[in-house]
Amino acid sequence: MEQITHQTIIDLIPAYALNSLPAEEADIVAQHLQTCAACRAELAAYEHVVDALPLAAAEVEPSAELKGQLMQQIRNTGQTAVPAPQAAPTSWQQFLRALSGFLAGPRWQPVGAVVVLALLIGGFFVWRQATMPATQFVLTPTEAAPGAQGIIEVVGSNGRQATLTVTGLPPLDPANQYQLWLIQDGQRTSGGVFSVQTDGSQTITIHAPQPLPAYAAFGITIEPAGGSPGPTGERVLGFNL
Ligand SMILES: [Zn+2]
Repeated sequence: MEQITHQTIIDLIPAYALNSLPAEEADIVAQHLQTCAACRAELAAYEHVVDALPLAAAEVEPSAELKGQLMQQIRNTGQTAVPAPQAAPTSWQQFLRALSGFLAGPRWQPVGAVVVLALLIGGFFVWRQATMPATQFVLTPTEAAPGAQGIIEVVGSNGRQATLTVTGLPPLDPANQYQLWLIQDGQRTSGGVFSVQTDGSQTITIHAPQPLPAYAAFGITIEPAGGSPGPTGERVLGFNL
């Protein structure tokens, strides 16, 4: 082999991660890895999945219930407001091809099908997690609380449950509390009333009547303790589409 380029090596990494390269090629890859951080990172990503192999092989067969749950999660994930990147994960596909060849060997045949299924499902989630951030809304502070930060993160699969985490909000006197507003078509629905700890932070769970991505804006205002039917006080944090 002459003229080994980075691109050549990176194409060999899936097979290298599976120890399925001939010794001569494996040596060349190993040498290149010592000098190329990009290829080391690529290898680490594949090894992460390969590490899961013995675990996956121990599974006799995913239960029908688990499969149903996974498919449900896949469908729900596809519905979130943040668009998924469209680029096909070609190296991932290459890896699966290499893996299929590897598993077709006699040693692996009995468990091959189950492992491939488990990897496909597991790999899908690893990929989605790596490439797609959870649906979240970053709230920006107003002049009333310049040091404040807030983030709403959807946690439930139906999009209606979320956590609000704030930091840097001034603690209020006991007569007042902060109130979160979910804003849609000019209508403001309360998303929760809360006080902050002495360090200015707090996390609350939101149960919204509509999926969170359906709202055009969010706001946090200072209200009398217990909250108000509609915002009356100063706005400290907000998010607008
Ligand atoms: Zn390289």
